[in-house]
Amino acid sequence: MEGKKLSKRPTKRRPVRIGLDLDGVIIDKPPGLPNWALTRLVRERTKTELAYRYPSSALERSIRWLSHHPLLRQPIWNNLRDIRTIAGTYEFYVISGRYSFLRGRTKDWLQTYDCAGLFQGVYVNLNNRQPHRFKESMIRKLKLEMFIDDDEAQIDYLRTRLPKLRIIHWNGTRSVRSLIQAP
Ligand SMILES: [Mg+2]
Repeated sequence: MEGKKLSKRPTKRRPVRIGLDLDGVIIDKPPGLPNWALTRLVRERTKTELAYRYPSSALERSIRWLSHHPLLRQPIWNNLRDIRTIAGTYEFYVISGRYSFLRGRTKDWLQTYDCAGLFQGVYVNLNNRQPHRFKESMIRKLKLEMFIDDDEAQIDYLRTRLPKLRIIHWNGTRSVRSLIQAP
């Protein structure tokens, strides 16, 4: 036993704090819209850095708002089930880059699918910042240890900015639960 430090009493382990992106991880894409089209709709055309467009016209905002009706946005059932199953052993925080005009929609969605109490917190991009920067600052503020996202560009950004964070790219091939619980 020499040189080995033994703790006097078992230390109570703090649950691991995990951040979840919303669209593409918990909420499915609207039906019939291919990924490239979706990216083109929201991404700014710049080659130098990652940038998203804030819909500047009221018309475009209403169209986006309509398309975010909870019934048009089904949950990704497997992921939701996984999270429900392990919610007691982890702390889950939703961090979504959704802009402020989707706040009500997001609340409605969580109620529709009975998820309101599932997460320790749900954070929406109320100040309409660039979504990846908003995520970065929330991850820091909440001191998250893990973050799950589906978007490669955002993951690349977060990886360079938060090298200590364990980032999981969810691309539909493995279950969220097995990815979280992998050593
Ligand atoms: Mg996403």
